[in-house]
Parts: sequence; structure tokens; C-alpha cells
Amino acid sequence: MQLTDLLTGQTLTARGMVVNATGVWAADHAPGLAMTASRGSHLVVRAASLGWPRAVVSTAVPGHFGRFVFAIPHADGLVHIGLTDEPAPGVDGIAPAVPDADETFLLETMSRAFARRLTPADVVGRYAGLRPLVSAAGGGTADISRRHLLITPDGGPVTIAGGKLTTYRVMARDAVDAVARRLGSAAPSRTADLPLLGAASAAKLRSVAAPPELVRRYGTLAPDVQALAALDPWLAEPVVPGRSTIAAELVYGVLAEGALTAEDLVERRTRLSLVDADRAVALAAAHRALDWAASTHGRLCAPRPLARP
Ligand SMILES: Cc1cc2nc3c(=O)[nH]c(=O)nc-3n(C[C@H](O)[C@H](O)[C@H](O)COP(=O)(O)OP(=O)(O)OC[C@H]3O[C@@H](n4cnc5c(N)ncnc54)[C@H](O)[C@@H]3O)c2cc1C
Repeated sequence: MQLTDLLTGQTLTARGMVVNATGVWAADHAPGLAMTASRGSHLVVRAASLGWPRAVVSTAVPGHFGRFVFAIPHADGLVHIGLTDEPAPGVDGIAPAVPDADETFLLETMSRAFARRLTPADVVGRYAGLRPLVSAAGGGTADISRRHLLITPDGGPVTIAGGKLTTYRVMARDAVDAVARRLGSAAPSRTADLPLLGAASAAKLRSVAAPPELVRRYGTLAPDVQALAALDPWLAEPVVPGRSTIAAELVYGVLAEGALTAEDLVERRTRLSLVDADRAVALAAAHRALDWAASTHGRLCAPRPLARP
């Protein structure tokens, strides 16, 4: 097949098989498949707004059975409040906005669990995502099954759709096994035996020689980030005052994690952009990190092979 790299414009010929794993866009590439997008909105507030909670707080949504709004303490004194589950037909899947109605719902519901009422002035950031749900007739999106669907039509791409983040390895296994069967192989996917990069037992993680915050984010790979931080004073500095992410993590994102743009770094490799006021400073640092990484001409941080258990 002929492939085109849309970033560079380069084309190449390759032998392979197409797997359609495009989330809310899956139906665009699988005739007969219907997907429903469900918007999950979150708010970010300072922990001080809620009296510095140290555990997750869940509160029931009035009038609903089994629906909750939660407040989850995160690093850097931030708390994420979420989330909604609303049908979002026709919404921009690239960057779905958080509507005012979602913000009001989250603030009012969470305020029931705390002594102090939350107001929009407490919100320092907001984000939403679209759950890719395999469609079912009737009911709200919260009632649609979270099970995944594998479609293997003759002559068409393998499609894997729906599911959950927590079941992604089962989805990957099913898709890879379907591809292997098409290629005439009976070998099953090995995903169940492959640890994530940096994964290790709690005991082993405690012995990793790096700051706890880096170990929490990178596991056994934390010393690689720490080593980068030692190369240049600015790399050891927090990207944004008050946040624990250091500039070396941005460079690491470019050198070892496939980040290509400043937005990749602040929105996906780190979550620095979640606080509106931090975004501009973080983006400026990300551009500096991209330049710094380019100046190494590939001499640093060759991506590692998958770790074995
Ligand atoms: C707000 C929210 C909260 C959630 N909470 C939970 C939770 O608590 N627990 C849980 O288990 N699950 C949760 N989920 C669900 C989970 O995130 C999804 O089920 C999961 O991400 C689906 O994975 P996927 O790989 O199928 O799709 P996605 O993660 O959506 O990935 C699809 C990818 O395909 C890419 N793509 C699209 N079109 C093309 C194309 N033409 N060419 C190349 N690439 C393309 C997209 O850029 C995207 O990266 C949540 C989802 C949302 C939105």
C-alpha cells in the first residue's frame, strides 16, 4: 500500500494491514458502524478552594441512580472535578469545549459536598473529551454499553471501537489477534505479558534513584529524565512557578516520547496547559525544549526497547 506522511509530505510503499482504531471517528472508516460521542467535561480548581482535600471525594448526582461527581486531588495543589456524560452530536472532536451548563452542573453538584460553595471564580482550567461509544437506540449516553466491538469485514480494515481506557489491552489483544489471523498466524498477542515502560513493583520503585515526583511520573525511567536535568541548569527548573514539571521533562518528551510540537508537550506529554494562566509560559518553554532537543541531533535518549517483566 502507498502511505503519505501528512506532516512531511513524504510517501512510501509498505506492506501491511490497516486497523481502524480512531475513537469517535471510527464510523467514518467502517460502513454500518454507528458511534455516539459522549462529552465528559472536567474543571480544575486550586486545592485551597476545597480546603486541601487529601482523598477523592465523590458525591451523588441528585435524581440519578449510580451517578457521581468526583473531586480528585492531583499534583501541584490542583483538584480535578468531573465529570459529565452528555450526548455531543456534531461536536468538534479535536478540541471539544466545556459548555457553561456543564460547568454549572459540576460546581453545583460538588458544592453540596463541601462547606464552601464553589463559583466560576474558583475554576482555573477546564477540559473535555469525547467518549467513543458504539451506538445503541434510546436512553442517555450514560446508559450505552462501554463494551468494545471488533469488526473484521472481508476486504475492509479491522475496526476496533468503543470500550474503555481500563480495557485497552483487551481491545489491543483482540485487534492484534484479528490481524494475525488475517496474516495466517495463530500466535496470540503478547500484550498481557508486556509491562508498560517504567513499570515496576512498588518496592522496586522505592529504590529508584530520582526525585519522587519524577518516579511517580516515569517509574524506572525517572533517572533518564534526571540525567537530562543535569545537563543544563534551566532543565532542572520548574517550567511554571508552583508546578512540579521541570524543563527536562519537556526535552524528554521530544527525545524519547515522540512529541513533535509545543502543544504535544504542554497538552499531552505533560498536563501543564490545564491551568489557563500557565499555558503561555509553558508553551514558551516547550518551544525552547524543542530547539534544545533539535540541537542534540539525536545524540541523546535513544528510545528504549520494551522492558521485560
Ligand atoms: C472524559 C472522558 C472520561 C473517561 N473516563 C474513563 C474512565 O474513567 N475509565 C475508562 O476506562 N475509560 C474512560 N474513558 C473512555 C476512554 O478514554 C476511551 O474508551 C478510550 O480512550 C478509547 O480508546 P480508543 O483508542 O478506541 O480511542 P481514542 O482514545 O479516542 O483514540 C483514537 C485516536 O485515533 C486518532 N485518529 C482519529 N482519526 C484518525 C485518522 N484518520 N488517522 C489517524 N489517527 C486518527 C485520534 O487522534 C486518537 O488519538 C473516558 C473518556 C472520556 C472522553
